[in-house]
Amino acid sequence: MPDKKTVVALAKEPSVQESVTKVFDLMGGVTNMIEKGSVVFLKPNAGHAAPADTSVCTNPEVVRAVIREVKKASPRQIVIAEAAAIGCDTMECYEVSGIKAVADEEGVELYDIKSDKDLVNVAVRGYRSNLSHVKLPRRLLEADHLINLPILKAHASMVFSCALKNIKGVVQDAVHLQMHQQNLTMAMMDVWSVCRADINIVDAIRPASGYSPHTPVPIEVNCVLGSFDPVAVDLIACDLVGIDAEAVDYFRVAAETGLGTTKREDIDVIGAKIEDCYKKMWVPYIGDMSSRWPEYRVLCNGACSSCQALLAINMETLKAIGDYERRSDFTVVAGGKNEIPDDVDDKKLVLHGNCTRKYLKNHPNAIHIEGCPPSEPLLYMSISNGELVHGKDGQMSEYIRPRMASDQPVWKKYVVEQAEKFYGAQGK
Ligand code: SF4
Repeated sequence: MPDKKTVVALAKEPSVQESVTKVFDLMGGVTNMIEKGSVVFLKPNAGHAAPADTSVCTNPEVVRAVIREVKKASPRQIVIAEAAAIGCDTMECYEVSGIKAVADEEGVELYDIKSDKDLVNVAVRGYRSNLSHVKLPRRLLEADHLINLPILKAHASMVFSCALKNIKGVVQDAVHLQMHQQNLTMAMMDVWSVCRADINIVDAIRPASGYSPHTPVPIEVNCVLGSFDPVAVDLIACDLVGIDAEAVDYFRVAAETGLGTTKREDIDVIGAKIEDCYKKMWVPYIGDMSSRWPEYRVLCNGACSSCQALLAINMETLKAIGDYERRSDFTVVAGGKNEIPDDVDDKKLVLHGNCTRKYLKNHPNAIHIEGCPPSEPLLYMSISNGELVHGKDGQMSEYIRPRMASDQPVWKKYVVEQAEKFYGAQGK
């Protein structure tokens, strides 16, 4: 009987190139996966202008190793494609991340999806978010192969980021913004349904732990994973670093939508063994958020893992910047299954996320932060200021980003201390 299991390849070889080659070999060999003369697009994570040692972007040496591997199949063209995060310049991200240097050395084109005007409005069949159509670049849609090259990292809006989330970076800012104003997980799945990578190669060389992506703490795992199935490779990547997949809503939604393989018994991990490569990663976005900050009233019944993760980073940021005690008479609500006591002062009530909008009926003057989930720093800034910071109408570039930059040194110091506590015993 043929083996119907989904294959996830795992490699931990002495060098990045050897690990990448091993993964391709385990998946069937690059010349069997890529046709001679084809056009191959590589989609790394290069969404922010952060240097390689931060692990915010895909390791440039992983990108190089994949380019060299793909060249063995004699493609006509290899193109690196990315649409950086809102407010970020893609070419600057390539440059700062080290991916530009690799592209130049390997003779590969760098393509900024955000600047392409030749877009096709693709209908999303059976869409589950509000994305009935997605505008995508024609040349990306016409590529023969799309190889997804995510880096594994903890992520404030999603708990973790890996294969599925990385494909969010094929859309321009307008769609990107739309995705953040509704259910992001569903929107990611809708984008995937119209822009599927046929191969996923995961950079787990130095995954980013901690309060990533903006304050990452890289750890040495030295692995590369590969699969044709983005959900299966994400699941095994989580297992590799001890992220509790049961606590991440993405896998539940993926199971409901049938997007990929979500059961371990249906996955065959080939190559290296997870237990031989395992390294526990610090991911402070998981756990019981209702009791983590006892000085505050935190109501989070019904909150998805995304909003819980955002609670974690925002409440800890308040501690780091010294505003935690000052605002401890605030009530913070996330999720749609809460009972808010009538005596709560609306001016000290913060409603986080679209599914808390219904509480405005009884608390019309509460501070309501929109988004599903909302943008990362809106919660701490709203609590700190005692009024809504919404992130619209240019506020992101005029106020939020400068403030994040000014809060960064004290926050970074705080994160380093927390990381030392977590990894201290392991001598990271
Ligand atoms: S706003 Fe509600 S539905 Fe959206 S991520 Fe947050 S908890 Fe989930």
